[in-house]
Amino acid sequence: MITCKRCSKPPCVGYIYLFKPVIVLLDNHGRAIHYLRLAVTDRCNLRCHYCMPEHGLEWTSRAELLSYEEMLRMCKVLVRLGINKVRITGGEPFVRKDLMKFIRALSKLDGLEQINLTTNGVITAPLVPELKKLGIHSVNLSLDTLDRERFFQITRRDELPRVLETLDALLSHDIPVKINAVVMEGQNTDDLLPLVEMTKNLPVDVRFIEEMPFNGGDHETAIPLWNHVKILHTLCQQWPDLEKTPDPPYSTSMNYRVPGHRGKVGIIAAWSRTFCGTCNRIRVTPQGVLKTCLYDHGVLQLRDLMRNGLSDAELSEHLLFAFSHRHKDGWEAEEARRGVPVEESMATIGG
Ligand code: SAM
Ligand code: SF4
Repeated sequence: MITCKRCSKPPCVGYIYLFKPVIVLLDNHGRAIHYLRLAVTDRCNLRCHYCMPEHGLEWTSRAELLSYEEMLRMCKVLVRLGINKVRITGGEPFVRKDLMKFIRALSKLDGLEQINLTTNGVITAPLVPELKKLGIHSVNLSLDTLDRERFFQITRRDELPRVLETLDALLSHDIPVKINAVVMEGQNTDDLLPLVEMTKNLPVDVRFIEEMPFNGGDHETAIPLWNHVKILHTLCQQWPDLEKTPDPPYSTSMNYRVPGHRGKVGIIAAWSRTFCGTCNRIRVTPQGVLKTCLYDHGVLQLRDLMRNGLSDAELSEHLLFAFSHRHKDGWEAEEARRGVPVEESMATIGG
């Protein structure tokens, strides 16, 4: 039996039984956990400089990657514990061979209510009809600029037309889309207003994200100049009547709408970490490391536990132990890294 290092008792993770058979898994701070972000690869067909250096990363070898069978098993165990939503991310998830086979299998998992995707959209368009058939709940599409030259400067690849094709395909198949744009001084701040303009006639939400230091060593990062306050201030100057809209439960974005626009505008204070108090998510990296906070250094090597022959029940015990020892927020998690700098690539975390 695994025991708590602090109190030597069994893990103090809690469950609330709402009504049979719905259960809510609670962490040691009373926060519900029901959302897994699964990074299926660290490889990518873009080289966004806020995410990785021009030459890429030391890619995870095939042997070190979680196999699809291992991912599926881990998802089954997690769904039994209370996870009901999985987001497939990466790296660029669609560069991993046979991803659609995995999504097909995942879509049949009993108890899993939502599968969502985050993609850069470069090779996604042809897959959209099948994603629709499989019931994909929503797609987050990364798009930092609508200007082709700026897109190239940011991503180091000339792929804007194919990303826009994916956006068209998603909209024409009625798959809900959120556009993610990282806001960077001197790079794409001129894009804030055109991106918000997209919400006028298109049913898309646009979310502006503070830049975090997870760039795989591409450059040193300072406290972002374009924080949530500055982003909001800029939007309010252009649209003084910008309305606050209610934030859905567990939302990481603060949400607004320009009156009359179809889509919403969100601001994600990813560096300022304003949302930790309601954080409902856990992450698994391509190498099978569990992260219970974006800023932690990994709390459990799930791949090795599975490869060492642990049963599902033993795996569950380890997971519950990790959930009962979550950091209260990203600041505490960063502190606990004990000097290991926050500079890994977001492609190894999944965003
Ligand atoms: N390749 C896919 C994509 O770009 O959508 C999925 C993986 S990517 C790591 C997930 C999200 O993380 C993207 O929306 C991206 O903009 C965001 N991201 C990457 N590096 C970031 C950073 N340093 N700061 C803030 N957001 C970042
Ligand atoms: Fe690739 Fe996404 Fe990272 Fe850009 S943000 S380099 S698209 S993983």
